[in-house]
Amino acid sequence: MTHSDLLEWCVPLLLACLGTMFYFLKLPFGRSLGAAYFLSAVGFTLAIFPVPTTGGWIKVAIEDFFFLSGVAAFAHVLALRSGVHSPIRTLTIFTLLGTALAAVAIGYFDSLRLEAAGTTAICAAFTGIAAFALSKRMVHRIDKLLFAATVLFALNLVAQMTNIVLSADAHMTVTAWRDSPWAFALQLMGAIFGLVFAFIFILAIGLDVLETLRSESETDSLSGLLNRRGFTNRMDQRRHEVGVLLIADLDHFKRINDRYGHDAGDCIIAGIGTLITGMAGKDGFGARLGGEEFAVFMPSLLEPEILGERLRDALMRTRWPHPLNGVEVTISIGATRILPDERLPNAYRRADSFLYAAKDAGRNRVFSDGNQSAGFGDGRKWAIAAQ
Ligand code: GH3
Ligand code: MG
Ligand code: MG
Repeated sequence: MTHSDLLEWCVPLLLACLGTMFYFLKLPFGRSLGAAYFLSAVGFTLAIFPVPTTGGWIKVAIEDFFFLSGVAAFAHVLALRSGVHSPIRTLTIFTLLGTALAAVAIGYFDSLRLEAAGTTAICAAFTGIAAFALSKRMVHRIDKLLFAATVLFALNLVAQMTNIVLSADAHMTVTAWRDSPWAFALQLMGAIFGLVFAFIFILAIGLDVLETLRSESETDSLSGLLNRRGFTNRMDQRRHEVGVLLIADLDHFKRINDRYGHDAGDCIIAGIGTLITGMAGKDGFGARLGGEEFAVFMPSLLEPEILGERLRDALMRTRWPHPLNGVEVTISIGATRILPDERLPNAYRRADSFLYAAKDAGRNRVFSDGNQSAGFGDGRKWAIAAQ
């Protein structure tokens, strides 16, 4: 076995191992990615075996079908990961057209050069489509790395195709092609890019999983809001901003649970989650600090009591489904302005004391620091009572 024989076998073996790993690890997109590696591995394996003297075009067309569908599956995975609609139909049509072109190039024109250049060009186009899809979602550094590798792969394919068109002999025999530098370059690049992409994909999938876990560990599943940990972390990231902090607690929630059942109570918690998310918008955020207590941060210059009042009023006007028809759910709110670089516990304590004052004063109202200079005692006169 010569060195080039060894390389020939190494490439499909490597791709098949990577394909198996992706397929069985049950990772996101693992099956499609595994299929992409398997299909390419079959293409490289078939290419090792000699072409029969008659009907050689059939073998070459089958080989090219596997190469094309491998790269198409790969482009499909990259499009899915970018969150764009995968152009799977276009990829399938061009895979079949490319296969037909390979058959005609060999069977009719007897031109290996046309067949190799055509297949490489279609693979380059598939990779270009994938790069375009990836450019739509460049959120993390890993997305940029994946994009850069895909562009490099596409450029490499274009360079190889140009090289084949310009310098390969138009009527090269299949045997001569096997030993040619162009075939060697294609194999080598198959192995290199196969490894590079596997590495980036494992990294990307790992980071995606970590991101999902992080987000789940900071989210309250019932309300869809952040939980206490998520709120503290987010507030820490936004500590240089001026804004309004609301601390809110549902009134007599225990009674609602006792009267209408725990599921009805859960429905209210989910409903207020939706209300707070809508009110906070994309600049602010809300959290369920625990039980029936919520926090909202909005980077707004409006008076805290005005924002608190909006939430109180929106909740009161909410119409609930059965068995809560006609039930008026109310909330008490402590609202305060949070200054840049003010520590969250300070602002929280202030808002919490306003909340308790609102509860003491009869619930269903917003208490706030309003006029800062008025101090807490006078602050009550800024409170907006609901009754
Ligand atoms: P107050 O106006 O003084 O705040 O009275 P309250 O009844 O709302 O307060 P209390 O602390 O006495 O009771 C809170 C209730 O919230 C008790 C608990 O059953 C209910 N609760 C806490 N978490 C959940 C939850 O996830 N789902 C439901 N349905 N109820 C919850
Ligand atoms: Mg309560
Ligand atoms: Mg409470």
